[in-house]
Amino acid sequence: MRIDCHVHGNPDDFAGDAGVYVAACRQRGIEAVVLIEDLATCLRAVDKFGDFVIPVVRVQMDAAGVREIEEAIAAGGKGIKFIRPAAPYGDERYWPLYDALERAGVPAIFHTGYLGFRQREERPVQMEYMRAAQVEVVSRRFPDLKILMSHYSNPWWDEAWKVSWTKDNVYADLSGGTAIHRSLNFWSDLFAPDGELFVPSIRKLCFGTDVRYFRAGEYPFEPYITFHDKLFDRIGLSAALREQINRGNIRALLNLT
Ligand SMILES: [Zn+2]
Repeated sequence: MRIDCHVHGNPDDFAGDAGVYVAACRQRGIEAVVLIEDLATCLRAVDKFGDFVIPVVRVQMDAAGVREIEEAIAAGGKGIKFIRPAAPYGDERYWPLYDALERAGVPAIFHTGYLGFRQREERPVQMEYMRAAQVEVVSRRFPDLKILMSHYSNPWWDEAWKVSWTKDNVYADLSGGTAIHRSLNFWSDLFAPDGELFVPSIRKLCFGTDVRYFRAGEYPFEPYITFHDKLFDRIGLSAALREQINRGNIRALLNLT
């Protein structure tokens, strides 16, 4: 079984029996999902889908203050998601937010790398502000802040590899629509160069997809399960490390008991 560490969805769109939907996801290998939405959406999803949903609250990081973060945590948020910053993630203007999370023992989830495009932007959106090198700045200043880098800093894969390998507090995932389109040769060479597994580079990976849930009869996570399992087979990953990546790491990161 796996916990999907990065998903989206609106429970209001769901028409059907929530219990049947959860059972179908679990039968296909997903025991729970980390839902990344605003606080109200997260809470409605927990209402409808129960412990299948682990809420992580997305905040507007250039508008949110420490109080909003504290309220999200008090309401049940297991982590706080940051995205679309007006300045690089490492900028000191954001340090009070990171400091609040570090003190609360609640993780920061950073969108890293390329950001999907849907509509004309009102202000510049810089993917460079969201690359792993910026998360590295944060991890140096806040070594006790637990961090998850979503999407492995696409396309700055090497930065994500180095930062998650060397920083004890930084985890990473291959969620999103890009990593699964790189070859298994590419990923196996990263995690098992010349065929030899390099455990420090993969031990803090978390299974994740970035797909939308809560559509009855649709299971878009399935290609991601196939991709990860193929990669694990290719590099000869032990059962213990698979378990860690599939569910153990995200449980530890989000303080799930
Ligand atoms: Zn996402």
